[in-house]
Amino acid sequence: MSSTPDPDVAGQAPRRRTFAVISHPDAGKSTLTEALALHAHAIAEAGSVHGKGTRRGVVSDWLDMEQARGISITSAVLQLKVDDVVINLLDTPGHADFSEDTYRVLSAVDCAVMLLDAAKGLEPQTLKLFEACRVRGTPVITVINKWDRPGQEPLALLDEIADRLGIRPTPLNWPVGIAGDFRGVIDSDTGGMTQFSRTPGGATLAGRERIDAQEAAHRHGPDWQTAVEELELLTSSGQTHDHDEFLAARSTPVLFTAAVLNFGVAELLETVKQLAPRPQPWTDVDGQPRLVDAPFSGFVFKVQTGMDRSHRDRVAFMRVCSGRFERGMVLAHAATGRPFQTKYAQSVFGRERETIDEAYPGDVVGLVNAHALHVGDTLHDGPAVRYPPLPRFAPEHFAVVRSRDTSRTKQFRRGIDMLDQEGVVQVLVSDRRGAQAPVLAAVGPMQFDVATHRLEQEFGAQTLLEPLGYGLARRTTTAATPVIDGKQGAEVLRRTDGTLVALFTNKWRMSTVASELPEGSLLPMFGAD
Ligand code: GDP
Repeated sequence: MSSTPDPDVAGQAPRRRTFAVISHPDAGKSTLTEALALHAHAIAEAGSVHGKGTRRGVVSDWLDMEQARGISITSAVLQLKVDDVVINLLDTPGHADFSEDTYRVLSAVDCAVMLLDAAKGLEPQTLKLFEACRVRGTPVITVINKWDRPGQEPLALLDEIADRLGIRPTPLNWPVGIAGDFRGVIDSDTGGMTQFSRTPGGATLAGRERIDAQEAAHRHGPDWQTAVEELELLTSSGQTHDHDEFLAARSTPVLFTAAVLNFGVAELLETVKQLAPRPQPWTDVDGQPRLVDAPFSGFVFKVQTGMDRSHRDRVAFMRVCSGRFERGMVLAHAATGRPFQTKYAQSVFGRERETIDEAYPGDVVGLVNAHALHVGDTLHDGPAVRYPPLPRFAPEHFAVVRSRDTSRTKQFRRGIDMLDQEGVVQVLVSDRRGAQAPVLAAVGPMQFDVATHRLEQEFGAQTLLEPLGYGLARRTTTAATPVIDGKQGAEVLRRTDGTLVALFTNKWRMSTVASELPEGSLLPMFGAD
């Protein structure tokens, strides 16, 4: 253990860019992720990682349920190299039911790429995820995708971003040709054009040709003229990139893409490389910053089981906040003070795994079979540090879960504990209901499907799920508990972290009960309405 700054870390950390893509389902996140990997030469050909013939088999989808539903439930981490820059792309589940999971991933990144469908603009899930970035002050790069299809006017899309998100959009490039007829982009720095051309199936890099303004005007006539005028309008109203404003999350650089054709993807990669913030000192639970080149520290933002079906293993994903991680290090587990061995450290790339020997601030390390680690835990070397716990979201769906087979009660209990630790669902108990009938609480009902599927697959515990008629939750106090418990349409349960959670059938029920309680007896939960 040493407390002296590590010169190697001081060199490596600024080379990292760690970000996640936030979007509404279907905006093209998987397609874009794949296209970025292709451009960074992380994989030979888009769609090839699963060895599937179709482009739909994307590196970051792997569980049966994900494939059956065509949605991304779990998060993968891709590490891409562009010149001397290391890009860590953390995948987030797109479905609203898993927004708690997404929030945890967002807590581990330095930047977000907000991906919009050109025809749809801002959609409900985009707004929710943007809000999570705003709460954390995360800088956001905006990408307007599917420009090869008919969509909205680019100026109207920018107005929507400014009006609804209260952030100033500053285009880094501007499309030539209306949505549906995407010829290329004006580079707002040089005033020249990058002209795109299609390649068969879009599975290889798009053709890109750089031409000057005169040549662009000659080739694209009125389309070029329109694009130039629109960009000038924005420039004259001050909508140009200002790095400090971007880092302060007051402005968002905007790019245009057609991910399926690989148009504009190289430009996005370059933007991430140039503009995305480098890892910064991480703030601990006491509000103190831990310098990037201080001794090693990191926190677990996600725990995932069953990624490798043949081993049914459990991977804790840790974001490195400071110092150098070396496999084999013995770290301190801040929650228990116990030593933690890091023999089985891996980088995780979709299904592919590689042993990781070292990692630097901004990188993500997968710790395999780390049963002692829970979401939010800090590991460190040298001087002790503890990072703030990750907030649990306000659940809106509740169901009692029971084991169908009483002879498998032990497996059922183990399974429930595991799901709780991983944060798949929240587990609530009360003396009244007893330990054999815990209440599962979720932000979205699909979390129940994941929970019961896993109880059955991994623990051999067939379950019965009985939905409860509650619709909202508040934190409450010991004093208020007996009052609430005596009322119809209300009940208090205890979450495993000790929080008392009051459930109500609806808002009206809650306000009736609240009128009998002292002020401050019902407290809002994170992410609640
Ligand atoms: P996700 O749900 O956000 O991960 O979206 P996907 O990447 O699965 O894309 C949803 C659909 O949009 C798929 O059919 C894609 O082929 C299609 N798509 C993605 N990007 C583009 C694009 O740039 N242009 C067009 N025309 N379609 C796209």
